[in-house]
Amino acid sequence: MNAGAQLWDAIVVGAGPAGCAAAYDLAVAGQSVLLVDKRDFPRDKACAGGLTMKAVKALRYSIEPVVKQVVRHVQLEGGSLFSPLKSRDPICVMTVRSELDEYCLGKTIEVGARFRRIGALQQIARSKDAVQLITNGETYRARFLVAPMEPAARYGACARRAPGFLRALRSRSKRRCPAGRSI
Ligand SMILES: Cc1cc2nc3c(=O)[nH]c(=O)nc-3n(C[C@H](O)[C@H](O)[C@H](O)COP(=O)(O)OP(=O)(O)OC[C@H]3O[C@@H](n4cnc5c(N)ncnc54)[C@H](O)[C@@H]3O)c2cc1C
Repeated sequence: MNAGAQLWDAIVVGAGPAGCAAAYDLAVAGQSVLLVDKRDFPRDKACAGGLTMKAVKALRYSIEPVVKQVVRHVQLEGGSLFSPLKSRDPICVMTVRSELDEYCLGKTIEVGARFRRIGALQQIARSKDAVQLITNGETYRARFLVAPMEPAARYGACARRAPGFLRALRSRSKRRCPAGRSI
């Protein structure tokens, strides 16, 4: 179905690691998810590409295919500080950010989220049971919008938590919950 005509369970704005993580869990929970970004992937992003082991464990899938190096020795330097740190266990892994983001997006699409590059965001409007994402080319509708606070506030959404939505996600069911919310 046309991405603009469908009423999605959720639209997620931003296909970086945060947006992909949200879209991934929503898709696995059985929700229909449209993940949108103003840029095409792979895209460049200023980043050293290091992931702490906590971040690696938090991901729902292995990122082994895009890991360039496993780091067990780091050196913290700054002013008079010189602190070498060695560990038998990995401290972090290094990736190339554009590869990591493209990989995460691929994994998210694999579990059923749909990705779409969108034109400039013009407005986020709310009706009783849906949120509308209005770009300079199309309008997308969803029961819930997951967006960073800054664009959500700038384009008119009243961002707030939607407990029913989070409950539905946790129980991995498609139970109805109050719609028309941005979170
Ligand atoms: C120099 C530098 C080095 C860094 N090194 C590290 C590091 O080694 N390890 C680490 O963990 N972190 C590092 N960071 C921080 C890390 O890059 C960010 O924390 C991370 O990118 C945040 O991920 P995100 O998904 O929230 O946002 P992003 O990765 O920035 O993704 C946001 C996405 O939203 C899209 N978007 C934004 N606005 C709109 C809109 N209006 N409409 C549609 N799409 C939109 C953007 O195009 C983008 O693709 C570094 C940051 C910098 C600047």
